[in-house]
Amino acid sequence: MSWRDGQRPLDIQRGRVEMAHGAGGRAALQLVEELFLPALDNPALRALDDGAVLDMPAGQRLVVATDGHVVSPLFFLGGDIGCLAVHGTINDVAMMGAVPLALTASFVLEEGLPLADLQRIAQSMGQAAREAGVPVVAGDTKVVQRGKGDGVFIATTGVGALPAGRRLGAALLRPGDVLLLSGPIGQHGVAVLSQRQSLGFETDLRSDTAALHGLVASLLAAVPEGAVHALRDPTRGGVAAVLHEFARSSGVGIEIDEAALPVPPVVRAACELLGLEPLQLANEGRLVAAVEPAFADAALAALRRHPLGGEAVAIGRAVADEHRFVQMRMRLGGSRLVEWPAGEALPRIC
Ligand code: MG
Repeated sequence: MSWRDGQRPLDIQRGRVEMAHGAGGRAALQLVEELFLPALDNPALRALDDGAVLDMPAGQRLVVATDGHVVSPLFFLGGDIGCLAVHGTINDVAMMGAVPLALTASFVLEEGLPLADLQRIAQSMGQAAREAGVPVVAGDTKVVQRGKGDGVFIATTGVGALPAGRRLGAALLRPGDVLLLSGPIGQHGVAVLSQRQSLGFETDLRSDTAALHGLVASLLAAVPEGAVHALRDPTRGGVAAVLHEFARSSGVGIEIDEAALPVPPVVRAACELLGLEPLQLANEGRLVAAVEPAFADAALAALRRHPLGGEAVAIGRAVADEHRFVQMRMRLGGSRLVEWPAGEALPRIC
């Protein structure tokens, strides 16, 4: 006898999420065993205990980061909410200089969501996790009534190991630090916006969503420990938000060059059409690094040697400025202040 006796297999092709799938009983276990486990499979998850036990490298500190994902629409060119939820949290752990070890995922599902969509999302998460070598070791599923959610929200938490003596942070910038950007900006923001029919804007631009821990490892290995002062992924709020966070946390000013900013033509066109600022668009596969000037060339070369940093550039530097202004030298001369995104322009972008 097993709990399955008399239970028909889940009809993933035609079925939908039901309230019972979040109730912790047989239906919930069936959803886990037939949909989530095959997609995310790994030994820790398979145990279906209340938590996962992880080995911690001796003498290292734990880094933990968490991120909720509410992107709309759920599927977009170059990705979906599933791989985004894996990449986004791996990247937050990696920006601390830590080696990501594992993720947890908490799903809030809306009653009526097609199981086929949920399977596609779970499989995308599994693929992203396998490619990154960072398994989803624990999870939770809750269901809310039809109309009380928007398909699926996914919160992921990541843990990583921080090597002894390593310290990175937005408060550590010093005047003179060179600011490196790992690639073109705005792709994720424009890829997601272009899927929202109401905007009447179409493009074949793909999201840049990617796990950046390999790029970070290459960068940190190429320079002495401590030469990279801060790393941050310019997601919501874009590069503009990162520069303001750096300036605010460390008490420096920032000067960047408009001519150095890699803005793809299609991103520029979308921004002109929609009245957006490329520096404020979300990216999901880029990083900004603040590097001690003596090691900036080596750091830039290391980024460029990596497949995810082939188009890396130096965009500016930190300067002594008690006002903590973020300024951009314009291509046609003069300079202007870079606005700190107010936040309401691009909801549900990640
Ligand atoms: Mg981040």
